[in-house]
Amino acid sequence: MCHYLRVKTVIKVIIPTIIKQRLENELKKAGNREIGGIIMGEHIKDNTFRIYDITVQTQGGSWARFVRQLSNSVKNAFHHFFQKTHYQYTKYNYLGEWHSHPSFALTPSQNDVQTMLELVNDKNVGANFAILLIVKFDIELKGDITLFVPDYPILKGELLREEEVAHERK
Ligand SMILES: [Zn+2]
Repeated sequence: MCHYLRVKTVIKVIIPTIIKQRLENELKKAGNREIGGIIMGEHIKDNTFRIYDITVQTQGGSWARFVRQLSNSVKNAFHHFFQKTHYQYTKYNYLGEWHSHPSFALTPSQNDVQTMLELVNDKNVGANFAILLIVKFDIELKGDITLFVPDYPILKGELLREEEVAHERK
């Protein structure tokens, strides 16, 4: 939406413990099936965002199909999210997409990159950037962040666990 973002520095995405656990549970349940959904974010400061909530779609096979097929459940999730965060769109907004690579590397495939570029360049979506979080369950949650900005090269981001961030502050 309207997040201001300086693209020169690495985007940092903090994942709260409760969301990490939820993803771990979903990934365990899904096994070898690819699952995905949408990420709602909170802008903390500069290039630091926190995952506020996620939607989980366990059906549909290819995640590319999740992306712009705004099902009623996704629409409802956004409605509640915006309501709960008092429509402060500059602080709380769409952050991007996530999906799992249960049986291969966490880096985005050619298809993933193509889909994300189409998404950020789509005027109807209206996002001026989006992240792609790719996850898998390997003893615990492993994640990879890529940032997509229209007309900019693709940048890698950093996924931080909330416990680590809290520890750093002490
Ligand atoms: Zn993928």
